[in-house]
Amino acid sequence: MLIPCFACESRFQPDEYFLACHDYNRGMDLVAWTCPSCGNRDDLRVLPGALGFGYPRRGRFDVQDRFQVPGLRRQRQDLRLDISLNHEAWCVPTRLRQLV
Ligand SMILES: [Zn+2]
Repeated sequence: MLIPCFACESRFQPDEYFLACHDYNRGMDLVAWTCPSCGNRDDLRVLPGALGFGYPRRGRFDVQDRFQVPGLRRQRQDLRLDISLNHEAWCVPTRLRQLV
């Protein structure tokens, strides 16, 4: 399956997509993602079986749209988010500046 960028509509293999996640915000439960193709930056929430897209509102993140990714799993850690799909796994670290 392929996961799209909603800005430029490029589509990515899961490995390429999740490697482009680069900052886990544990407080908001969001990962930052920068499109390898167009450079658009988006925040998204990794959910069981889906990616959630939406908007921050009153200090929370409201998921408005979900993109189904069957088999997607996530595990919240102190300083990173572990993501797995089928037999692949990725780790999105929390940038330390967020702790200061
Ligand atoms: Zn893009």
